[in-house]
Amino acid sequence: MKLRFSENSKVFTIHTDGIPYLSFDMLDELGVPNLYSTRYISWDAENGNGITGLRTAIMKTEDPAEAAPVCRANRDALARQLGSSLAMEISTDQKHTNYVHVASGEDLGVPPVGSVLHRQFVDGVVTDIPDALLTAFGGDCPPVYIVDPVKKTAGLVHAGWKGTLGKIPQVAVAQMVVKFGCDPSDMYAAIGPGVCKDCYEMGDEVYDAFAAQWSREDADRILSRYPAKDGDGREIPGGKYHLDLREANRLTLLRAGIPEDHIAVSNVCTMCNVDKFYSYRGRRLENEQAAMLVNHWER
Ligand SMILES: [Zn+2]
Repeated sequence: MKLRFSENSKVFTIHTDGIPYLSFDMLDELGVPNLYSTRYISWDAENGNGITGLRTAIMKTEDPAEAAPVCRANRDALARQLGSSLAMEISTDQKHTNYVHVASGEDLGVPPVGSVLHRQFVDGVVTDIPDALLTAFGGDCPPVYIVDPVKKTAGLVHAGWKGTLGKIPQVAVAQMVVKFGCDPSDMYAAIGPGVCKDCYEMGDEVYDAFAAQWSREDADRILSRYPAKDGDGREIPGGKYHLDLREANRLTLLRAGIPEDHIAVSNVCTMCNVDKFYSYRGRRLENEQAAMLVNHWER
């Protein structure tokens, strides 16, 4: 039996040989290796079940000395499924910023790029280094994969609500334009699995922040107030805003100049699928998914 999610997604393929993962069809067609992992360590297609508990990220509650070897071994196994390895990995410390680092050779295969090295928190990386492996982590916050097949460059960002507010995908595109001479009209982007709008309840201050930093029109496009209901299901005054992270990041990529038909959006929600994904909001906090993108071009 196949591995399935609660939504039918037409934008990626599910791979279950080895450690299971999803890959974006659009990026596969461009020949650039990419993945988004799940909770599964393995999947038994014959019996339609799998072993969960895949650890790729060192969690705050864990002893790094104990967790690191396990997480590194699993990430190396995932990387090898893409024809890469951890020796080529660049990851970031992910502090919900909109800072994007331009990778250098010194970043390859070392601990996350971030405050120690650069005195700056980092949530995204862009690179022109051939075969560099970019890794991000998410347990509701979608990763955004960005590639340019003309300049053979790649970027990967972690886009939670704060990074999304700070337009981190646009920052990555701008870095690729400035540092690598990319033209946004040549670029492609994929927005990975993350929490869906129905699952993503936000406080009024989040609406106010978007209305101030974006525009009220755009805030109204990506945030809607869902009505409160009484015990009998009748609508009553109150309610909460819900944020559409996918649409917000898609808008940002469009405004950055990436053509609409060069953007793939996953409709799979980490919280609606807590049996298959780690999810902060879904209280599956044991670990996070790894997103990987290799700056390797097969054509
Ligand atoms: Zn959901």
